[in-house]
This record gives sequence, structure tokens and C-alpha cells, in this order.
Amino acid sequence: MPGFVTRFAPSPTGPLHLGHAYSAMLAHDMARAAGGRFLLRMEDTDLERCRPEWEAAIVEDLRWLGLDWDGPIHRQSPHIEAYNARLEPLAEGGLVYPCSCTRGDIRAALAAPQEGVVHAVYPGTCRGRSMESRQPGDALRLDLARALTHLADADLSFLETGPAHEGCHRIDPDRARREIGDVVLSRKGENFVAYFLASAFDDADQGITHVIRGEDLFDFTPVQVILQHLFGLPTPVYHHHRLIRDEAGRRLAKRDDARAIAKYRAEGATPADIRRMVGL
Ligand code: GLU
Repeated sequence: MPGFVTRFAPSPTGPLHLGHAYSAMLAHDMARAAGGRFLLRMEDTDLERCRPEWEAAIVEDLRWLGLDWDGPIHRQSPHIEAYNARLEPLAEGGLVYPCSCTRGDIRAALAAPQEGVVHAVYPGTCRGRSMESRQPGDALRLDLARALTHLADADLSFLETGPAHEGCHRIDPDRARREIGDVVLSRKGENFVAYFLASAFDDADQGITHVIRGEDLFDFTPVQVILQHLFGLPTPVYHHHRLIRDEAGRRLAKRDDARAIAKYRAEGATPADIRRMVGL
């Protein structure tokens, strides 16, 4: 397949565990099978939780697993200001607005807690505020309704090849307004950029043709596709893979040090054992 480019994009906030190892090996194997490229990106924009020691440990585990990546590791943290600067055209077009609401304000403004919704959809309290009124510490939110109107003629869709959601997904504007809402893209003076925004910029800048990642990130895809259209970026093919779960069926988390690759290594496991354990 010509031009297959994918990546593994961990956030170095903890050790590499079985779930990450599966993600990395799958993306690596798919790239190599396609004669394509496999890149490594550190999504280290959460300056409080990301640590260089974790990055070094992740790199060591990936090498031990026998993975090789093309080109240098791309780190996001030095580019936070640059990601935020790219929001300027959206600000000029009236598609973002400053917001000073705290989590408490948002909870209070929502009539009832929303069952099953991971992130409470912002009730729009600050919508309509001008960019001139922006204060240090204010977040910048996407005015989703205006953005969708702006994109009325766009083909808001993406191709998914993963097992759980295989097929072409068309983004329904009404559902997006209900389920995504006016998301925070950045926060002034706090060196913060939304993960899904930085990731969407990097996927485009690095020429990623196939995003291979865990099913837990499937729900971020619609907002990333909307952002790709707003910024004139291409939409890659998505492949959301199954999650590796523990014996109780819970998905592994970073704090799940018991499933850390380093621990299996210390106990004498081989890379082939790890591949077997995750079903590769
Ligand atoms: N950085 C994200 C994570 O560690 C992955 C982002 C992505 O693959 O798009 O879960």
C-alpha cells in the first residue's frame, strides 16, 4: 500500500503496560506489513503529569519489544504555544470564544447530571463573549454550532477499519451539538492545549494516513474530524483496536503497574511472551 504512515502516541505519565504495548506492536506491525512508516510521538503536553523518566522507560520497553520507528521521536511539549497560535484564524472567524467558567459553574448551570456522558457538555454560558474580552486564565472554546454552520457543505465523515465500528461514519451535526458541545481548545497563560487538538495538528503535520489507537479514543474522532475541516487538514483512516483488559474485564490503566512491561521483563518474560499475552 503506498504511503501508509502511522504512529504510536503515548502520553509519558506512567509505565508502558500491556495495553500500550499491544497498541504500539499493532501499529508497528500494520505499518511494516504495508511497507509503510511507523512514527513515535510523545504526547507530553500535560506538563504536570508527564515526566522525562517515563518517556525514557517507554522508549526502553518499546526497543526491548523489538519495535523500531522511523525518524526522531516527536515531542509535543515544546510546541504548545505554536499549537495555540494556530487558533488565530478561528478567533478571527468568530468560531471560538473566551470562557471563564469553572467546573463548579458548569455543574451548577447544567439542570441535571447527564447519565452516561463522560464529559458534561458545556451549557454555553460564555458563548457570545468577544475575543477582546479575553482575560489571562480564560479558556478558549470552540463555538460548535457556528463551526458546523461554517462547515455546512463539508463532508464530515471518516473511514474506520477497527473491529468494533468498522465502516464509514458520517458526523451528524445535531448529535455533535448534543454530545460534543463547545469543547475547550486552549487556556491562556496556562501553557495548555487540548490533547485532541494537538494530536490532530500533529497527525496532519506528520502525514499520518492511518491513526491506530485504542477503542477508548473512538469518541474523540468526530471532534478531530470537525477540527480537521476547520483547519483544512486531511482526515486519516482510523483504526480503533480492542482494549486489553485484566481478568476482571477492567481496562488497564496507567496506575496498573502490575501489568507494566517492565515488571514482566523483570520476571523473565520475552517479547514473544508479551505478544502471546495480548493475542498477537
Ligand atoms: N496520547 C494518547 C494516549 O496516551 C493517545 C492519542 C492517540 O493515539 O491519538 O492515550
